[in-house]
Amino acid sequence: MFNFNNTILSLGDDFYSKEKVVPTKDPKLVMFNDALASQLNIQDKNPEVLVGNTIVDGAAMVALPYAGHQFGTFTMLGDGRAMLLGEHVVDEERFDIQLKGSGRTAFSKVGDGKLPLDAALREFLISEAMHHLNIPTTRSLAIVETPSKIIREEIKPAGVLTRVASSHIRIGSFEYAVRSGEGNLKKFADYTINRHYPEIEDCPEKYFDFISAVVDRQASLVAKWQAVGFIHGVMNSDNVQIAGETIDYGPCAFLDTYHPETVFSSIDTNGRYQFGNQPSIMQWNLTRFAETFIELITVETGLDEEVVTGRLEEILAEYAHLYNAYWFDLMGQKLGFSSIDEHDKELIIDMLGMMIEAEMDYTSTFTALTEGKFDELSGLSETWIETYKERVSGEENAQDLMNAANPYVIPRNHIVEEALFNAWKHDDYDLYNELLAAVRDPFNPDHNEYFMTRPERHVEMGHMTYCG
Ligand code: AMP
Ligand code: MG
Ligand code: MG
Repeated sequence: MFNFNNTILSLGDDFYSKEKVVPTKDPKLVMFNDALASQLNIQDKNPEVLVGNTIVDGAAMVALPYAGHQFGTFTMLGDGRAMLLGEHVVDEERFDIQLKGSGRTAFSKVGDGKLPLDAALREFLISEAMHHLNIPTTRSLAIVETPSKIIREEIKPAGVLTRVASSHIRIGSFEYAVRSGEGNLKKFADYTINRHYPEIEDCPEKYFDFISAVVDRQASLVAKWQAVGFIHGVMNSDNVQIAGETIDYGPCAFLDTYHPETVFSSIDTNGRYQFGNQPSIMQWNLTRFAETFIELITVETGLDEEVVTGRLEEILAEYAHLYNAYWFDLMGQKLGFSSIDEHDKELIIDMLGMMIEAEMDYTSTFTALTEGKFDELSGLSETWIETYKERVSGEENAQDLMNAANPYVIPRNHIVEEALFNAWKHDDYDLYNELLAAVRDPFNPDHNEYFMTRPERHVEMGHMTYCG
C-alpha cells in the first residue's frame, strides 16, 4: 500500500517518539480521496491501516516534537494527536503520511489525542478547496470514523484523518531543535535544506539562503491566502510549514463580506489572526524562525553577532517587498491586468476601500467583474468603473486572466457548518459531497446557486468556527 522510507529517523531520538496505537474496533471509511490516491500510487483503502490498527511494512509510527509561539507565547509542543505513519516515496517524491486523531502520544499533555469527525471533515473539505484554488497545501487522503465519542462543546463521534504533506516540518520544529541539544539545530537545518531546498545545499551562506528561501515561500503563500480571502485562524509558529504548504485546518474560514478585521475563530478573542493581520503575523513568525539561527550562523561564519543579526534583519525586511509584489500581482490578475504599475495599485486599493464601505461580498464581486456585470457592483463608484474599463480595455488576455483568478465557489463557512452538521449528526453526507464536488471545480460558474451566494448578514456574523 505504501512505499515507506523514513529519513526522519536518521536524526536520532531527540527528533521523534516511537508510539503505539491503542486499537479501535470497527473503523469505518467515510471519505477517500481517489484522485490523490492515484497520484500517490496507493490502491488499498483498508480502514484498519488508516486508523493505525494494522501496521504496514516499513511504517515509522512516530510522533514528532516541536515548539512554537501560540498567540505570541512560547510553548513546547509536539504531535499530541497525530502520528507519522511514514514517508511514502513515489517517483522520487517524498510525502509524509500522517494519521491525525489516532490517539494519545508522548506530547499529548492533558489532551485526549482525538479529532472530532466534523473537524476531520472540515480539514478534508477545505484542504481540497485550497488545492483546487492552486494554493499550496497539505492534502487529505482519507477519513475513518471510529466508534469512540469525544466530549467537546457537545458529544461527537471521532475520526482519523490521513494527512499527506511534503513534510510536517514547521517553524516550530526549529524552535524545538535549537533548544533540544548541542548540534541539533545544525543537523535539523541541514536535513531540511536537503529535503526541501536542495538547490541551496552547497551555497557558501546556506543558512542565510535557507532563511531567505523560506521567507520567499511564505510571502508567496500568504499572498495567495489574501487574494482568495482565506483566513487561517491559528497562525501560530507551529502551524507554519517550512516548505510553504498551508497546514492545520482548525478554525479556518473564507471571507464572505470583505473586511480586513474579519475573525471567525472563537479562540481568537483579541483578533490577533484577523484577515488583515495575516501578512504581518507571518513576518512575526518568520522573525521567530530567523532568530533561532543567530548563534549557529555566528559560529559557522565567524561573523560578529551584530553583523549576523543585521543580515537577518535585511532578509526579514525583504519579506514586505516580496509579499507586496506577490499580492499586487495576484490582485492585478483578478482585475485582468497582466502587469501592475503604481496607478494599478491605487485602483486596487481604492476598490478594496469601496468594498469595505459598501459591505460587498469578496468572491462574487470579482466574479461579477469577470462577467462584466457592472450593474451588480453598485458599491463601486462610477469614476472607478470608468477608470477600470479604460485600463482593462488595453489588456489582450484580461478575460483569461480573470477566469483563472476569480473562483465562483469557495467553501462558504455557513454552508460548511451546515454540511458538517448534517454529516456528523445525521450521517447525511449529501450536502457535504455536493459541496466537495463544487470546491473541486471552483472556476466553473455552473454550480448550485446556493454555494455562490453570500449568507444573510446576521447569519454570517453569528457563525464562529471551533478548533476541534
Ligand atoms: P493546533 O491548535 O491544532 O495547532 O494544536 C496545538 C497543539 O495542541 C499541538 O501540539 C497539538 O498536537 C495539540 N493538540 C491539539 N488537540 C489535541 C488533542 N485532542 N489531544 C492532544 N493534543 C492535542
Ligand atoms: Mg497545529
Ligand atoms: Mg489543529
